[in-house]
Amino acid sequence: MTHNTLIVSNWKMNFNFIQAKNLVTNLKKIKYNKLKLSNVICPQFLLLPTLNEVLHKSDLILGAQDLHFDINGAYTGDTSIELIKDYNCKYSIVGHSERRALHNESNIMIKKKVKLCLDNFIIPILCVGESIEQRKKNTYKDFILKQLTECIQKIKCPELVIAYEPIWSIGTGIIPKVEDIIEVSELIFSFLKKEKIDKFQILYGGSVNSSNFREINSIDKINGALIGGASLKIDEMKKILTSC
Ligand code: PEP
Repeated sequence: MTHNTLIVSNWKMNFNFIQAKNLVTNLKKIKYNKLKLSNVICPQFLLLPTLNEVLHKSDLILGAQDLHFDINGAYTGDTSIELIKDYNCKYSIVGHSERRALHNESNIMIKKKVKLCLDNFIIPILCVGESIEQRKKNTYKDFILKQLTECIQKIKCPELVIAYEPIWSIGTGIIPKVEDIIEVSELIFSFLKKEKIDKFQILYGGSVNSSNFREINSIDKINGALIGGASLKIDEMKKILTSC
């Protein structure tokens, strides 16, 4: 387990060129502990070429929000790992709940993406997390274990990131109790240890902002956050980055 804090901004389908450039220009000015913190930005694909130039020689790291599981081929509208690598993405989010729900992504497909990333030296940020029904029915642990098993079991993983993102917390302002995040982070930790994966980070994602980040990040097995809404606001990011 790596102890550095990893902050991953998931901009989703937001920002035009000017807005994106403005935000990264301001993010570059923030002074934070660069030895302790990695700051990854995942913009829309079309913003990658410009941001790759703007981020040149800075400490900010680029990541992709998704990628196709095949190297190339007849996949209209998709983006290949080759282009993601060309624009210096070090990470890619895979299996985000919005992709699973809106693009019918299955664990089988997501496993292929994880494998493709690892074969190409891109660190996958695999998202797992339960729905509100699964939480209420108390089936969430089995569900998360199934996601982990079907997405990464028996893959040779030199390094990966797991983001625990309860679906009911994404974009809702509702955060699980600290003990609930602890429980799931320990479940993920034990799974990864059983799989003999040594280099990993576990993130929490879902309505993280500058008011709750510190408490969440202080959880023993949590090494940072995947941030949606708050990552679009410079003031929020400044408070989050400087609190590590
Ligand atoms: C996300 O979608 O990955 C996310 C964590 O969003 P938000 O922070 O807006 O809940």
